[in-house]
Amino acid sequence: MSVNHVDVIIIGGGASGLMCAASAGQRGRRVLVLDSSNKVGKKILMSGGGRCNFTNLFVEPNNYLSANPHFCISALNRYTQWDFIALVEKHRIPYHERKHGQLFCNDSAKDILAMLLAECERTQQVTIQTHCQIEKITTVNDGEHRFHLQTSKGQFACQSLVIAAGGLSIPTMGASGFGYEVAKQFGHQVLPTRAGLVPFTFSDNIKAVTERLSGLALEVSMTAKDSTCFNENLLFTHRGLSGPVALQLSNYWQLGETVQVNLLPQLDIASWLKEQKQQHPKSLLRTQLIPLLSKNLVLELQTLHWPSYAETPLAEIPDSALLTVAEALQAWQLKPSGTEGYRTAEVTLGGVDTRELSSKTMESKKQKGLYFIGEVVDVTGWLGGFNFQWAWSSGVAAGEFV
Ligand SMILES: Cc1cc2nc3c(=O)[nH]c(=O)nc-3n(C[C@H](O)[C@H](O)[C@H](O)COP(=O)(O)OP(=O)(O)OC[C@H]3O[C@@H](n4cnc5c(N)ncnc54)[C@H](O)[C@@H]3O)c2cc1C
Repeated sequence: MSVNHVDVIIIGGGASGLMCAASAGQRGRRVLVLDSSNKVGKKILMSGGGRCNFTNLFVEPNNYLSANPHFCISALNRYTQWDFIALVEKHRIPYHERKHGQLFCNDSAKDILAMLLAECERTQQVTIQTHCQIEKITTVNDGEHRFHLQTSKGQFACQSLVIAAGGLSIPTMGASGFGYEVAKQFGHQVLPTRAGLVPFTFSDNIKAVTERLSGLALEVSMTAKDSTCFNENLLFTHRGLSGPVALQLSNYWQLGETVQVNLLPQLDIASWLKEQKQQHPKSLLRTQLIPLLSKNLVLELQTLHWPSYAETPLAEIPDSALLTVAEALQAWQLKPSGTEGYRTAEVTLGGVDTRELSSKTMESKKQKGLYFIGEVVDVTGWLGGFNFQWAWSSGVAAGEFV
């Protein structure tokens, strides 16, 4: 059977793979993108509620989690959010800023995918092959070519092989864990993976509370065991806790740990409760709290934290009991039983150990010509456009060297 020879094969036509293809194609490299799915860029299309939060104005290395926190710096500095914004503007894609510097398309995430495909096409060097199952990867030594790929679409040989197959999140979108298998094949360490940017679930009495409050959203601050804290919206759902604050915190949470919620982060609740006691001595605690939180939430909190004072006028509630209530509202301890897992997770934490990759080129230190980019690598961003920025930056870092 004949073997098709190209310079670069990229496995995975998602965010990082397409960016890498465009970048390598612009250098005149003949690139073949192989994707097992029926369509490339599916996650781009479903991202940001269909509007793709494509980057963030305030990208910093500390927006990323990794066992090797400095690894991401080089790529992020060499292809920045400003470079990607310039590309978006060059393609006249209308976009807007939302809070915390998050940039979204005005119209559709389709614009970002179309832009990446146009950038690939412009080079006339990039071919994309979908519905392609990679059956076997072997190394060869025929002068120029280092890798031989046996696939459902034929045999291919290439000089550089880029693994851009993503992580494990959303298996229905083509996530497969394939990249980790390739990493192991070439002797790489794969750090334990877990679902990130994912809602929390509960099996204790809080499960029924979140079910009853399903649909309620409020701005809170939420703190993990390691003191990482985010201020954002919390959403009660019939499965547990979601909303941006819960998703952000899930990256910093480990099974068995509690999380702490401050339901009124703008207020010193202990002093405020004492004031209410003086100013409204005949009032009930819930009557004062309902204007600040919602009625249904206050009724749930009352059952959980001050059932014996539910019908007691404020004047008759001892200060010590008010302090306990303040503590419960300001540092509500919740113990998730888990998360919704890869089924709904936006990202996969962990992955290919960066200590065995070049931070400049993303090339393996174990196998010349092999590169890992995007989510398959142990670099995970916060919610807010940081994961796509990593996909663009790592894609370009490799694209300039493959
Ligand atoms: C619902 C959702 C919303 C999101 N929204 C945002 C957002 O708004 N902003 C943001 O920054 N991030 C967002 N993300 C995260 C972002 O989508 C990922 O970080 C990013 O897509 C990772 O890029 P990647 O190229 O590494 O992987 P992917 O984009 O996942 O691409 C991997 C590609 O590899 C292919 N593939 C997998 N296995 C194989 C195989 N065996 N053979 C061949 N091909 C294979 C897949 O079909 C896919 O096309 C979101 C994620 C989800 C799930």
